Amino acid sequence: MIESEPLVVADRITRSYRSGGILVESLLPATCTVHPGDQIVLLGPSGSGKSTLMHVLGGLDLPTTGRVSWPALGQREELRPSRITDVFQGPSLLLPLSVIENVRLPLLLGGTRSIEATIRANEALARFEVDDLADKLPEEISGGQGQRVAIARALAVRPRLLLADEPTGQLDSATALLVMDRLLETVRELGAAVVVSTHDPR
Ligand code: ADP
Ligand code: MG
Repeated sequence: MIESEPLVVADRITRSYRSGGILVESLLPATCTVHPGDQIVLLGPSGSGKSTLMHVLGGLDLPTTGRVSWPALGQREELRPSRITDVFQGPSLLLPLSVIENVRLPLLLGGTRSIEATIRANEALARFEVDDLADKLPEEISGGQGQRVAIARALAVRPRLLLADEPTGQLDSATALLVMDRLLETVRELGAAVVVSTHDPR
């Protein structure tokens, strides 16, 4: 694998669903490339297909037609838990696990040793100012706090590509700015690429 290879190449991908006998075309042919270090915003109104595109770019969903590949990252089975990470639009913390266990889990699955996983999880939580919530359960924290934990979880792994789907949707505008600043700063430090979706032009 060569360093300058693209992370993602999508070639005329579409995604349609059959819903109650009706064909819903969520994604018209989309062609795009994500390179290392890219910072990309997907801007569009609700229902325009942002989440659908993110899921296909990240290999969590398959295109109906067209092709997607990850030249610098490997096969679809190799992308997680470490090479691509996700901040999902909806709640995504695992309910039986505490905040810190949620952040530690992908690190442990990726082979990081337990002590190192704890250190990195704490660092990531502190960066997004939710380290004081480490021992709480997801149901004991707010939606916005949960979003910050999910961002910390996605970045603690040090991915090559972060896919963040409306990551500040539940935050007030001042906190959203702060969180986006920290997110982009972390992505830059890692030399990673990021795709962020939003319906908010700001
Ligand atoms: P966005 O993230 O921009 O709000 P989505 O990608 O979630 O948009 O959805 C795009 C379109 O695809 C919408 O019309 C939505 O209703 C439809 N859609 C998304 N997921 C499904 C599904 N699983 N089954 C049927 N239709 C879906
Ligand atoms: Mg969406």
